[in-house]
Amino acid sequence: LTPLVTTGIPAADELEISLFGPGLGECIVVHLGGGEWMVVDSCVDESTREPVALEYLSKLGMDMGRAVRLVVVTHWHDDHMLGAARLVDASANALFVCSAALRTPEFFKLVAEDQDLALANSKTSGISEFARVLNSLGNRNDQSSPEWASASRRLFFRPASDVAPECEVFALSPSSSSITAAFGALASLVPSIVGTPKRALVSPEPNQTAVVLHVRLGARCALLGADLETGQHPKRGWLAIINDGNRPQHPAHVYKVAHHGSRNADHPGIWRDLLAEKPIAVLTPFFRGRVSLPGRTDVERIKEKAIVLYSAAQVRSPPPARRMKTVERTIRETARSFRTRAGRMGQVRVRLSPTTQDISVFNAALQL
Ligand SMILES: [Zn+2]
Repeated sequence: LTPLVTTGIPAADELEISLFGPGLGECIVVHLGGGEWMVVDSCVDESTREPVALEYLSKLGMDMGRAVRLVVVTHWHDDHMLGAARLVDASANALFVCSAALRTPEFFKLVAEDQDLALANSKTSGISEFARVLNSLGNRNDQSSPEWASASRRLFFRPASDVAPECEVFALSPSSSSITAAFGALASLVPSIVGTPKRALVSPEPNQTAVVLHVRLGARCALLGADLETGQHPKRGWLAIINDGNRPQHPAHVYKVAHHGSRNADHPGIWRDLLAEKPIAVLTPFFRGRVSLPGRTDVERIKEKAIVLYSAAQVRSPPPARRMKTVERTIRETARSFRTRAGRMGQVRVRLSPTTQDISVFNAALQL
């Protein structure tokens, strides 16, 4: 396994979007200008066991406590949360942001029930990671609370200075309607699952309330699509963002494609209303069991709309329907638990200055 190769820090007026993914997992490190950073979601570098954002920013020589202004967890699926608590620990002055859809007694009941277990052993589900994050925030001097993101809420603002242009970060989701629906779903889901293994918590619902972000540094913008899905409801998911008159109007030049390129997270209105014509598109693949994203048709669809499409790691075709019986037996005999091994960590780095743009790939990352 090769360590991450990275060179040089971005200029003070450069917007950087660095997307990391080991094949299963996603982390975006964003330079907001002026030496200030935001981390969106978290995954772990298997070769070092470190949260990849921590590793990258340390290699750039950044003092995490000063440089990181925001840590955002877009939703509580474990492919977006691994290492988040260590990240929050290290980013002692960063605002921790998560979806307002989690602000319910039921979710906190789940977290509280999980907390003792989570702190006692090294479980790595999204919910136990969330418990660790809350614990870390609670240990700060000011006993910080999460910042609850919802549609058209400004999370960060820095006025223009001699060094860097004006910067602002907006949450574009979840919408009020998505939040209300999630409250109802959590209220009816939780009593039946408290006390059952957390495996049962794998539910598609967080993708309806994931936090999409709009970042602007001067005239340069990025849209970070999280795993938000489209759905049919005009006031939920992507349709709510497209129909929201209060959102920032600047079209984005870089798009972190939603939900690993899945068709259920795409809509023509994203490309028409939220993005500049022919934007730079970047994504991380998702590979677990029978699910492999993006599919071949997803790649083709996105490439028609974007000027270029990059992936942080190799995109794989789904495995055959069943492993051969002997293989299954060997796996059972040699490993107590078997997980499809994540691929090598890759990085797609996009840097936009007021007048230039640079796209670089490192390790397993590639152009599709
Ligand atoms: Zn995901």
